[in-house]
Amino acid sequence: MFNQILADIKKYERILIHGHIRPDGDCYGSQFGMYHIIKENFPEKDVHVVGDKAGYVSFLGTPEKESITDEMYNGALAIVVDTGSAERVSEARYTMAEKVIKIDHHIAQTHYGDLVYVEEEAPSCCQIVTKFAVEMGLRLNYEAAFALYTGIVTDTGRFRFRGVDSQTMNLAATLLSYGVDVEKLDNLLSVETMNIVKLKGYVLQNAEFTDKGVVYIRMTRDVINTHNVTDEEAASLVSLIGAIQGYPVYCLFMDYPTEIRIRIRSRGPRVDKLANLYGGGGHEKAAGAHLDSWDELDEFIEKLGNLNKYYQETGKDDLF
Ligand code: AMP
Repeated sequence: MFNQILADIKKYERILIHGHIRPDGDCYGSQFGMYHIIKENFPEKDVHVVGDKAGYVSFLGTPEKESITDEMYNGALAIVVDTGSAERVSEARYTMAEKVIKIDHHIAQTHYGDLVYVEEEAPSCCQIVTKFAVEMGLRLNYEAAFALYTGIVTDTGRFRFRGVDSQTMNLAATLLSYGVDVEKLDNLLSVETMNIVKLKGYVLQNAEFTDKGVVYIRMTRDVINTHNVTDEEAASLVSLIGAIQGYPVYCLFMDYPTEIRIRIRSRGPRVDKLANLYGGGGHEKAAGAHLDSWDELDEFIEKLGNLNKYYQETGKDDLF
């Protein structure tokens, strides 16, 4: 499969690299990592990173959108990274490309792409892109290594999540050999504004707990505005309530104009199947979904609690 991907990269003169909506470190890392790998090895190619912007990892580069014309997709190759389902691809025009390659690590729900490479067990998409470069004997450079290492670090929660294995470490070591400054990266990722620190205080004070082991926080528009943070910053705080003893399932409800987005996480049962019932998906222990209104919150929390209770009592997580 990697050979086919490389053959297509060699074949097409213009390559547009897409990611998912509300991009994160792994998405940006995969997009810009792939961009720099292609430019390093095939400098004559016309390569573009296309899609939404992410403040958190903006130091990796700025994707294009308005400057990309429809004509640019004529006879072009689109590579979509880190995106499980078609609806989540940032910038739907990727379908106008002559060929679409999907490279991903999510549990696939809807099929898209002419050539599909998915490793569900990989803890980051950047790991797959790095492996692709290494196995195909492609040259890496500092920019590629820095972007890919950023994605590996962020999507593994700093090498803490299951899925991290010797392959992850070996590939990360290869990236480090290009001079990635781990302290510089950690500063870029970890230093936060006073507004976020204050919002963290709010989250810890106002998290809600159920008797079935679920903890959650309602990130209402009012709270986001009062603390003067971006949506991305507010949504990132789901991890803050992730290590409370007795509450292995946790989530953050994010108030958007047309929907309530849920970021669901678990140290217990798999939660992606429940996410599927609420228009979402993702990974077994980290998934996204949405509600149409706050009125649906209680029912969702009840189901999540039942799932956890069932898992604690039976060791099984096939309730949904
Ligand atoms: P998030 O809470 O947005 O970080 O999402 C957790 C994981 O689930 C990420 O890997 C997302 O790419 C994925 N995900 C989030 N929302 C959805 C969705 N609506 N459908 C499918 N996958 C999703």
